[in-house]
Amino acid sequence: MKKFLIAGNWKMNKTSAEAAAFAEELKAKNLPNAKDVCVMAPFTSIEALGKGLEGSGIGFGAQNVHFEPSGAYTGEISVAMLQELGVGYCVIGHSERREYFAETDETVNKKLKVLIAAGITPILCVGESLEVREQGGEQTFVAGQVIADFADIPAADAAKVVIAYEPIWAIGTGKTATPEQAEDMCAFIRGVVSGIYDNATGDGMLILYGGSMKPSNAKELLEKPDINGGLIGGASLKVDDFAAIAEAAASL
Ligand code: PEP
Repeated sequence: MKKFLIAGNWKMNKTSAEAAAFAEELKAKNLPNAKDVCVMAPFTSIEALGKGLEGSGIGFGAQNVHFEPSGAYTGEISVAMLQELGVGYCVIGHSERREYFAETDETVNKKLKVLIAAGITPILCVGESLEVREQGGEQTFVAGQVIADFADIPAADAAKVVIAYEPIWAIGTGKTATPEQAEDMCAFIRGVVSGIYDNATGDGMLILYGGSMKPSNAKELLEKPDINGGLIGGASLKVDDFAAIAEAAASL
């Protein structure tokens, strides 16, 4: 049976009070696949979200981390700080961080390493811009990101990473990749991972699609063989929509 992960990415949305209310409502949905569902909150709302989800099986996490253990990095958050909150997941290399906050493949690689060492599952985002796709360069671009992001990471550690393929042109735009486009790139990424490591690592890797996934298109994306779930922004802010996407995965 195909493994799934349905991951919400709240971005810069929801206060602690709002996170607590969301958790209570989501918990009440009694999702049959709760252990395959997680929500990534802003740092300040993680504790309330985690407390609210207690006993539900639903995971929770952060949207960034610094790669140094401590020190003079004003405004940053360390892995130990996330561990203390009990986070299970952390989004790394989101295109918004790459674009607005100078995230590079080099910093992504360092962050992957510290998260893996800490036992926190990284959700590594890769994906091309519209310009790159229009020039037919999406495979070269995404392969380059995957190869650079996994540099010096051994197979046993790489197996602990979740990859999210997020075409930048589909994030927050309402423009979803077609199931075929999403499947093609997720299959391609699986092949790249197999090429770096081996078939077992490629076959076992969870590869999500992200980009305007919503209840109305989730099933047709999730039923594709190489798509193991979704990284969901906008639709993860409403409990009913997010739960409907999780339920679509549970039905497959
Ligand atoms: C995201 O934030 O990773 C994302 C895919 O956003 P949206 O679902 O809103 O496109």
